[in-house]
Amino acid sequence: MIPAASFAGKHVSLFGLGGSGIATARALIEGGADVLAWDDNPDSVAKAAATGIATADLRGADWAKFSAFVLSPGVPLTHPKPHWTVELAKGAGVEVIGDIELFCRERILQAPTAPFIAITGTNGKSTTTALTAHILKSAGRDTQMGGNIGRAVMTLDPPKPDRHYVVECSSYQIDLAPSINPTAGILLNLTPDHLDRHGTMQHYASIKERLVAGSETAIIGIDDSWCAQIAERLERAGRQVIRISKRLPLTDGYFADGTNLMEAVHGRYSKVAFLEGIGSLRGQHNAQNALAAVAACLKVGLDLGEIQSGLESFPGLAHRMEQVGRKDHVLFVNDSKATNADAAAPALSSFPRIYWIAGGLPKEGGIEPLRGFFPRIAKAYLIGEAAPAFSATLGEAVPYEISGTLAAAVDHAAHDAARDDSGEVVVLLSPACASFDQFKNFEVRGEAFRQAASAIDGVKPIGGAR
Ligand code: ADP
Repeated sequence: MIPAASFAGKHVSLFGLGGSGIATARALIEGGADVLAWDDNPDSVAKAAATGIATADLRGADWAKFSAFVLSPGVPLTHPKPHWTVELAKGAGVEVIGDIELFCRERILQAPTAPFIAITGTNGKSTTTALTAHILKSAGRDTQMGGNIGRAVMTLDPPKPDRHYVVECSSYQIDLAPSINPTAGILLNLTPDHLDRHGTMQHYASIKERLVAGSETAIIGIDDSWCAQIAERLERAGRQVIRISKRLPLTDGYFADGTNLMEAVHGRYSKVAFLEGIGSLRGQHNAQNALAAVAACLKVGLDLGEIQSGLESFPGLAHRMEQVGRKDHVLFVNDSKATNADAAAPALSSFPRIYWIAGGLPKEGGIEPLRGFFPRIAKAYLIGEAAPAFSATLGEAVPYEISGTLAAAVDHAAHDAARDDSGEVVVLLSPACASFDQFKNFEVRGEAFRQAASAIDGVKPIGGAR
């Protein structure tokens, strides 16, 4: 845990007592703050109280005495409307911050030179965070990873000069971190997302921009126009910007040329790393994630040999194009995290011949946006509530069956794929749907896929993310 010494002897109010809220309250108390915490959910309040955290309904609190108000990132700060606690804090002139802000202040207090890599973007945050941390760890660096992935940031080990922090930041967390100041800040990409919570795309983009604007070095994926403009703006303001592109040669920066990762310096190119043969980093989207990780690792002083060997041993993250097993020419891939058509697109674009398991609780738009990938699909196996709608979209374009359950789909897909003699093929769960009609969540669905695949005679597990 990182004791939050920046509020020693001060009163702090806190709202949102989920896992990270309790961890943050404990870090503040440990650092010497007087914390008063609350949540709309009585069970969460009871849980926090049981760990010794002082709780009270903040409607009745004396807000004038608080030096800060710490808000959980899950609670609306601005949209659709500010939470009542935010109104009370603003009315009393109390600053509203989150756990990432507390972390940034502690790092500045305790070890300002501790390398800090912060990662955001609409897609690929977790992969890039895990990959960057993995490369650093395999190079023998003291590495702490957390934030929006894995451990809440204040539960990490305390800052010291040679300790590296790799922290995934959601837009909500950045919104609550006014002084975020990473050594290397990564902004991967921007597409419309979470607009219910941010109002407009402009507002959403401006929050994400804050992470790179506060960075010593800003690493920005410029393949979308929002990010390209942010890179321009920061450079004009005299900031150090490193551009990355998964598809275009750049004059300066890092770009992907097929599976080769290239560095460009004033239009001269050299190869810095390669992804050929790295199953956990297949696909153009992963080239973007890898370029960002490579740029950040170079920034903190790793050499190319260390970086390449970290890329090669990256196990990947569970449920994101995760290779779970193989039988002869058939690879089994779990992409259960793909809960809408956009998220399924990277997997469908990464394999040439696919036995595709799709369906679940349908999202608006269905699989129509995936039509361009239909020629790659040898057959589709439809499950859950979305099956009738998906079958209507597939129509004559793709052979399909309505399998109903995931177990039946895996069984039938494996059987058909085994008889395919056109080289390597994949049985892919990339459902383009939420899981809740048949599973508790996408993780449970992915585990069910793994088990069903592993139960098939002759399927050998592939070591990796668990
Ligand atoms: P996040 O943490 O931002 O949700 P993840 O790394 O968990 O992202 O990846 C989730 C899904 O998003 C992946 O399964 C993949 O389909 C897609 N994805 C990953 N990286 C990228 C990227 N750089 N660009 C676009 N889509 C991506």
